[in-house]
Amino acid sequence: MLLATDLDGTFLGGSQMARLRLYQLVASHPDIDLVFVTGRGLEHVLPLLADPTIPQPDYIIADVGATVVHGGTQQPVFQIQDDIEQIWPGDRVVAEALAHLPHLQRQEVPQERRCSYFCEEHHIDDEVRRIVDRLDCDLLFSAGKYFDVLPRGVNKGHTLTRLVDHLGLDREDVLVAGDTLNDLSMYETGFKGVCVGDSEAGLLASTADLARVYHARAPGAGGIVEAFEYFGFLGSSGIEAELIPVTERGKSDLVIVYHRLPYEEFIEDGERKRRRPRSPNGIIPTLLSFFADGKPGSWVAWAIDDPAVGEFEVHTEVDVNHYPSLVAARVALTEDDVDIFYKRFSKEAFWPTLHTFWERAIFHEEHWGVFLDVNRRFAERAAGEAAANAVVWIHDYNLWMVPAFLREIRPDVTIAFFHHTYFPSADVFNVLPWRRQIVGSLLQCNYIGFHIPRQAENFVDVARGVMPVEIRQRVNCAPRFFTYGCAVGLEEMTTEIEVAGRAIGLGAHPVGLDIGRVERALDDPAQKQRIAELRDELSGVRMLLSVERLDFTKGILEKLHAYERLLEENPELQEKVTLVTICVPAASGMKIYDELQLQIEQTVGHINGRYARIGWTPVQFFFRAVPFEHLVAYYAAADVMWITPLRDGLNLVAKEFVATQGLTQGCGVLVLSEFAGAAAELRGAILTNPHDPHEMVSTCYFALNLSRDEARHRLAEAFDSVRHYDIALWGEEFMAAVREHATLPEADTSAGE
Ligand code: UDP
Repeated sequence: MLLATDLDGTFLGGSQMARLRLYQLVASHPDIDLVFVTGRGLEHVLPLLADPTIPQPDYIIADVGATVVHGGTQQPVFQIQDDIEQIWPGDRVVAEALAHLPHLQRQEVPQERRCSYFCEEHHIDDEVRRIVDRLDCDLLFSAGKYFDVLPRGVNKGHTLTRLVDHLGLDREDVLVAGDTLNDLSMYETGFKGVCVGDSEAGLLASTADLARVYHARAPGAGGIVEAFEYFGFLGSSGIEAELIPVTERGKSDLVIVYHRLPYEEFIEDGERKRRRPRSPNGIIPTLLSFFADGKPGSWVAWAIDDPAVGEFEVHTEVDVNHYPSLVAARVALTEDDVDIFYKRFSKEAFWPTLHTFWERAIFHEEHWGVFLDVNRRFAERAAGEAAANAVVWIHDYNLWMVPAFLREIRPDVTIAFFHHTYFPSADVFNVLPWRRQIVGSLLQCNYIGFHIPRQAENFVDVARGVMPVEIRQRVNCAPRFFTYGCAVGLEEMTTEIEVAGRAIGLGAHPVGLDIGRVERALDDPAQKQRIAELRDELSGVRMLLSVERLDFTKGILEKLHAYERLLEENPELQEKVTLVTICVPAASGMKIYDELQLQIEQTVGHINGRYARIGWTPVQFFFRAVPFEHLVAYYAAADVMWITPLRDGLNLVAKEFVATQGLTQGCGVLVLSEFAGAAAELRGAILTNPHDPHEMVSTCYFALNLSRDEARHRLAEAFDSVRHYDIALWGEEFMAAVREHATLPEADTSAGE
């Protein structure tokens, strides 16, 4: 069958339950051709295509019949639309002919091959009719306020009939649905039809004598389902059939969805073994702490499914002593899945774009297919774990599409999302070929957290380009965050938006540190010796320290160039400073980093070749990961910590340096890129613009020459903030915000629109 339906008040109307039922019916019957037939302009239909809960139409008839396009590509059905184009006199001609009539108010919405106005019925007088007639056009008045001038003979019924004939369908297999007078033409062409409940009185009166038109009781989507039964479409089994299989609900009130398991699993001698994660940055232990109350919980993550090591276990315990009721619910991936989903696609397509390096991004449609499939499996696993009205907390861009799939299966759960990476503005984000789907998915969340206000505001910027977004609440960012003091600062941020009738909370939650971890590292007696040895080896040469992963976002090359210039412009620093760079290699198999590594090695070689003296190496470059405990010794021994990413979601290293110096009563100076998220919250740091070679040199020089008193004062300010806003507070504040935006229990949400 073909369902041709009006949108507002019809397909999009009715109770939430009725809409869900209709949408699931359509989705579960691929043999139903769906046609949106709407008075909206095409551009205003596009937001619906980004909503994962609404079935995608095969065709769209927009502009009250003046536009007809394929649903998938939004390209015109040329054979029909071209004929309409031929008889349309053109917007400007129509607008000018009606311009002198003060009661006609042009609608400020997208419109093509028609002109739309607001007016009252009595304003459509003989003069208006005469003008429209002379233009060789038709006029249409509906819902007591909408007045359209259309090409002669064009209306919803006309274009739908042409489409049905064009597709070679039997007219008996068509059901039309509407609720206002601009839908009348669809019924008049003789199709079977339904006027849904609460239809415009004029439409009901005009269709009262049409034998093939059913007047439904239920409004909106419910009326369409009623008509399926009335006309016998789909048959009774089709209507009754269980639609998308409702997943058995689980028992967990909290479900964490994170790409990594809370323990490290590896395969050795043909057996699965596990150990504690080697380099946890504090997030995993914090997330685990939410399960310490003994309530049932689940942690959804992937694990390699290797038949050679025996049958894949979906559920495993995590830590029976500390979290007896927490299970890991694992999504079985092959090495190939992981390679594409995680190592290649996420890093090649999303990572560069998110960090504003969109020219470096590589997009493969087939990789997106794998990404979708993996995300769907994560969502299905989470849906099977969550108890009624549970909180499902999803992490980071690898799992962007989980909310879309999850919301479809589990409308009851509260979906929270934390974005761990930078989030760019629309100018950059819109480069992503799948931006509509991604934003449509994120907008299924109840609450979305970012590190800093700028990232949340950028998300609003992106969302507004995809669908209508109403700003419901804004707050001042100060005093917690910088306003105009750094490149990623902001005066005000949006904390609640409304999209398609749903409220979505937004928040800034910069990840904090586990100070105890730094303390434990410092308490180790071996540590004091390590710090003393480092100082001894430096023998009076001041240490500039740089610690980062090998990544183009980290600005390592730019920093090396600035360092060369620093030595060149300030010869007195030669033999007095050394730049210690700890650069963690990228995971194997990530090709995009090979070239950068080569360039860095060449630049280090060049600087050392130019300036080194016996007993003094200008750049000491360690291309390897250093265990956290050793890193802390470097933090303690450093004079200036030089962290200059071109773009960074947050930057934990900056906070770790501050914590180490604070705990050891040091007076080290932090020079931090104003493009790192941490710059928006860390007072006391010397901010620098890594894109400005001149400023990079001058701020570094300034830091090296800062008085001990000022350095101590700045550090105290930064340490106070790092100690207060620790990782535990981060988790508490995030969960508190999620609870404020939780989905209401079912009885309340199903009550109305
Ligand atoms: N890190 C480490 N060993 C190293 C270098 C870094 O353990 O040799 C850790 C560091 O302590 C920090 C993390 O890696 O916790 C890096 O986090 P950050 O937010 O600075 O950067 P990201 O890598 O997440 O972009």
